Amino acid sequence: MARIVMKFGGTSVKDIGRIKNVALRVKAERDRGNEVAVVVSAMAGATNQLVAWCNEISPLHDPGEYDTVVATGEQVTIGLLAMALQEIGVPARSWCGWQIPVVTDGTHSKARIKTIDTPEMVERMEAGEVAVVAGFQGIGPGNRITTLGRGGSDTSAVAAALKADRCDIYTDVDGVYTTDPRIVPKAKKLDKITYEEMLELASVGAKVLQIRSVEMAMKHRVRVQVLSSLEDKPGTLVCDEDEIVEKELVSGIAYSRDEAKITLVRVPDRPGIAAAIFGPLAEAAINVDMIVQNVSDDGKSTDLTFTVGTADLARARKVVEDAKAVLGYEDLRADSDVVKVSVIGVGMRSHPGIAQKMFHTLASEGINILVISTSEIKISVLIEEKYTELALRALHTAYGLDAA
Ligand code: ASP
Ligand code: MG
Repeated sequence: MARIVMKFGGTSVKDIGRIKNVALRVKAERDRGNEVAVVVSAMAGATNQLVAWCNEISPLHDPGEYDTVVATGEQVTIGLLAMALQEIGVPARSWCGWQIPVVTDGTHSKARIKTIDTPEMVERMEAGEVAVVAGFQGIGPGNRITTLGRGGSDTSAVAAALKADRCDIYTDVDGVYTTDPRIVPKAKKLDKITYEEMLELASVGAKVLQIRSVEMAMKHRVRVQVLSSLEDKPGTLVCDEDEIVEKELVSGIAYSRDEAKITLVRVPDRPGIAAAIFGPLAEAAINVDMIVQNVSDDGKSTDLTFTVGTADLARARKVVEDAKAVLGYEDLRADSDVVKVSVIGVGMRSHPGIAQKMFHTLASEGINILVISTSEIKISVLIEEKYTELALRALHTAYGLDAA
């Protein structure tokens, strides 16, 4: 007998028909003799609606009350799923975050889980009852309801699985792909992917799992399987590197259109200039991602380019323009028609030439690279947005990832 956490996202519980279908999947798992806890999201679209109502009252609403409102979506689905299970003869009961309790810090709207105490829940599971747990919610200081950030029920599921044997995340895709199958029809589903790679994929725009859930799984070595809630077939296992015998050099290619580039033309080449530019941006809570500075040929000035998220472009521009007198650059150019393409693979640590292949492939398609950045297992380039499809397809082929 194993203890299993099954998590179903919003599209998997979007209406009563889907909820009944989830109940059947849960019953099947329990009929195999397993102890089951199910974590569910709100019905698809429900949380968006709740967030919209809060913003309609006031864009500057009280974050504590925001959590009180947005946490309700999950209370609906746990009650309905528990009923649906009872209806097919499976003993079940619902659990709100505060009832378990899932104790978090007090950072409303993006709280972090501190502890999960489950003695009563575990006792009842051992006696054969399915625990239906609300994802996304917790309880913070002062007995206030908290939520874990958008997509947070993935993190609830991983947290609930710390002492379980498996954590299965059921969703509307059937696994993690080598790249976006809507753009590259030859994309392949991966059988396994390492925590590190999944973390990089999540951070550059792949929306399969909340980043924090991957961090938590990696830290506590929880094996997470991503699979389809509609079809009965194996998905992708997110696991330790040691579990992956045949490793590809590159596991995935991701892209993010949410990028904007700012170039400062003829910035004085003197010590302290980078601090003078990036200090005020950090103070304005603007994340700078990629940075490139050219060597000055006259020893006096150089061009400096950096990227920020599209949503931050206007504010970043204002911060740098306000500091123009101090910084002494000649001109500012902003461009949001750019995309960041990233090649990810733990194999990069031990195999040279992966970056070279990326640059060569893009060059032979006539695609100019605007900015480059690297980490131990990732190479990212910024290119013009109009080349997104071409770049993804060419790279997918070049790294041998195309499905046969
Ligand atoms: N219902 C929440 C959201 O839409 C949490 C989740 O689905 O993971 O963000
Ligand atoms: Mg999600």
